[in-house]
Amino acid sequence: MSYHANEKGYYGEFGGAFIPEMLYPNCEELRQNYLKIMAEPSFTEEFHQLLKDYVGRPTPLYFAERLSEKYQTKIYLKREDLCHTGAHKVNNTIGQILMAKKLGKNRIIAETGAGQHGVATATVCALMGIECVVYMGEIDIARQAPNVARMKMLGAEVRAAKSGSRTLKDATNEAIRDWINNPVDTHYIIGSVVGPHPYPDMVARFQSVISEEIKWQLKEKEGRENPDYVVACVGGGSNAAGAYFHYLDEPKVGIIAVEAAGKGIDTGESAATSALGKVGIIHGSKTLLMQTQDGQITEPYSISAGLDYPGVGPMHAHLFRSGRGEFISITDDEAMTAGLEVSQLEGIIPAIETSHAFAIFDYKKFEKEDVVVINLSGRGDKDLQTYIDYFKL
Ligand SMILES: *Cc1c(COP(=O)(O)O)cnc(C)c1O
Repeated sequence: MSYHANEKGYYGEFGGAFIPEMLYPNCEELRQNYLKIMAEPSFTEEFHQLLKDYVGRPTPLYFAERLSEKYQTKIYLKREDLCHTGAHKVNNTIGQILMAKKLGKNRIIAETGAGQHGVATATVCALMGIECVVYMGEIDIARQAPNVARMKMLGAEVRAAKSGSRTLKDATNEAIRDWINNPVDTHYIIGSVVGPHPYPDMVARFQSVISEEIKWQLKEKEGRENPDYVVACVGGGSNAAGAYFHYLDEPKVGIIAVEAAGKGIDTGESAATSALGKVGIIHGSKTLLMQTQDGQITEPYSISAGLDYPGVGPMHAHLFRSGRGEFISITDDEAMTAGLEVSQLEGIIPAIETSHAFAIFDYKKFEKEDVVVINLSGRGDKDLQTYIDYFKL
């Protein structure tokens, strides 16, 4: 069995492209061209040059000595927090802005919830001098003022979605409407391994630089390319997809996905999709999502804005259903405690999303000689106020 997408964008029973007819030409143009463009030397050269000189790759693979001592196993941290803009998201936006240029597009749209993907998109649009419109729910605009300011400073236009719950899903609807109305000149940059085919596969490939680097870095440090486990938090699943990518078909490498349980799986305030989700269609893709009996998408909850999503990408739905991936859900409290611990053991303040991945040691025991790579998806600066309020610092 392969855990990669097939040519129709299916991972097992999940994936595909469930889109309104009016969006078909946009997705079809991308589908027909993305693999061809990604294989062109002029594309790969520019992509890797920018990852090196602009993003700051390769990011270090750091042996976390004090954390390893505490949990009696060998823990390595893949330092995506050291990427320009402070998280892995920019790997994808760099790839997609170059894709947009190759397709002759001169306008970019995106949607954002907490604003992290909006900032990563505004960043690459500034870099390339391309017009950028970011849709964001009116409520999120009020909640995430610093990221709205960043996007504006970078030259993007932030448009408020004023319908429905005025959050991420409404911003997504507005972005799709815009794309339908501007099919020729506009590219839609989706921020995770979600959406209709070819987005999940394309985004996973752009993020796969993470596991490509882990392989040679681990070879240097441990004399072998494969860890025993690779661990990542899953919102939509892009940092996880990147960290797993080159290990998906290596059955000896254990894959651990960490979801946000919020206040607890049974509290009604959770984002643990594997535990609570059922098969359905969200954002153009068949996957697992949290929904009511009659199929209405349930409002998710997590203390971490990046994990506060009611679905997972189709790759992760397949990893869960097939048993290839082990899924663990972590509450707000457990994540916050783990984030504080990593700060004080390693001098690294992680994003709250990543803190969920650090909380697995209470649930999962490793052998002393196991090599466990944790993808440190982002830095915690953006979450400082949440940490301050939580710990009364
Ligand atoms: C956005 C974000 C996530 C969640 O997104 P994925 O697509 O699941 O990776 C995780 N960590 C950080 C730091 C983020 O900014």
